[in-house]
Amino acid sequence: MFFSLSEPSGSSDPSADGPQQNLASSAEAQGGSPGPSAPPTNGGSGAPAPTLGPTETPSLVSDAELEPEELAEARRYGRLQRKCLLADRAIDLVYWAVAALLLAQPVERFLASVELLAQSDRFRLIALFTVLFLFHAAVSLPLAFYAGHVVEHRFGLSRLSALRWAGRYGKQLILALLLTLLVVVGLFWIIRGTGLWWWAVGAGAFFLLSVVMGQLAPVLILPLFYRVEKLDRPELLDRLRRLAEGTGLSLEGIYRLDLSVETVKANAALAGLGRTRRVLLGDTLLEHFPPEEIEAIFAHEVGHHVHRHMAKMLLIGLAVSAASFFICDRLLAWWVGLGTAGPQMGWPGQVTPEPAGLAYQEFPVWAMPMVFFLLVVLGTLTGPALNALSRWHERQADWYALKRTGNPASFCRAFRRLTRLNKEDPDPPRWEVVLFHSHPPIRERLALAEQFPQERHEAPSSA
Ligand SMILES: [Zn+2]
Repeated sequence: MFFSLSEPSGSSDPSADGPQQNLASSAEAQGGSPGPSAPPTNGGSGAPAPTLGPTETPSLVSDAELEPEELAEARRYGRLQRKCLLADRAIDLVYWAVAALLLAQPVERFLASVELLAQSDRFRLIALFTVLFLFHAAVSLPLAFYAGHVVEHRFGLSRLSALRWAGRYGKQLILALLLTLLVVVGLFWIIRGTGLWWWAVGAGAFFLLSVVMGQLAPVLILPLFYRVEKLDRPELLDRLRRLAEGTGLSLEGIYRLDLSVETVKANAALAGLGRTRRVLLGDTLLEHFPPEEIEAIFAHEVGHHVHRHMAKMLLIGLAVSAASFFICDRLLAWWVGLGTAGPQMGWPGQVTPEPAGLAYQEFPVWAMPMVFFLLVVLGTLTGPALNALSRWHERQADWYALKRTGNPASFCRAFRRLTRLNKEDPDPPRWEVVLFHSHPPIRERLALAEQFPQERHEAPSSA
């Protein structure tokens, strides 16, 4: 679980097609250009606003409104990202349809010619999904490279060489493969073992996996990609401590993340569960934003913590996965006759149907890609609703930040700076927001701050 400040450019996330979200996707999807010396784009009017606090930060990005040419550039970048995202989703849907309907059976037959794999359904399942996953990686590699490296490079946003981009992408693929295998083997075992109720048991198991991954992600997975270290600016920590007071978020949990190793873009996130709960501030953010704006952004992340957004998303995830697995079960009954043969479980007094189809206990290896395909389709269909919920959470966190800091001016300056640095289209097309965005457009977030009642402009005293 990873709550970031702004929209990730997730078009090249290699695991976004699986039922499990890549925890590092938020910052992992950008590509790169060589050298850490690329200057931040100080577009348009380069001078910092006169209201800035004491400058601990020598390279502030301008907080002025975007100049027309900057806006045009952000729109061009947004259009390219949009095309990549649509192409990526289309490739996923088509690929997994082909894999389920055309590839699964012949590939499984081929694998069964290996003695070890012929004997073990589980090993054959692992081999089948490894093959299908690698085919998928090969099919989507050109787009991933284009979206993650070429485009980011073209807009001067990345700091990775092609080789280092490939290294990080390879690492993501390995993680995604391991997670996919874990989910697929687990579901297969649950379908065979629990029969009619597999969808409920499967949703419960998926929920537990999400909780465990939520706890492990910031301490095990994030450090594979970034250096994560405690924030070491005492005067800033002092200010942030005051904002976190009384919220249950400990000061121990404020970390600096070296996003600059791969990108120019700034970001922040709330990550982890329980004892691994922490606020991550990108070094790109710490470097280019004055303290009162870092406060506004930090307060936004505290807002996610106070509103318990992660717990809510986990519970909604449980409901959504139970519903998805149940629909998947009914579709499999219609498609391959799943559950229409063999001993039945579940319903008391159920009449045994005609033995034409498949028993749950004999659920075949080749049918698992169908399950996967159906979950990709259902994930695509439920995406807009989950995104709407996420945008609602983001608005709550924004409102919390405004209330907590009582400083809408800094909030607005921070978002204008962020727009410039990240070259984010402040006002993308509505359909794109509805389908894909987990965060409201910047234009709306600024409008929210303008709604903030003037009399509330006071020192942070009450939450
Ligand atoms: Zn947020």
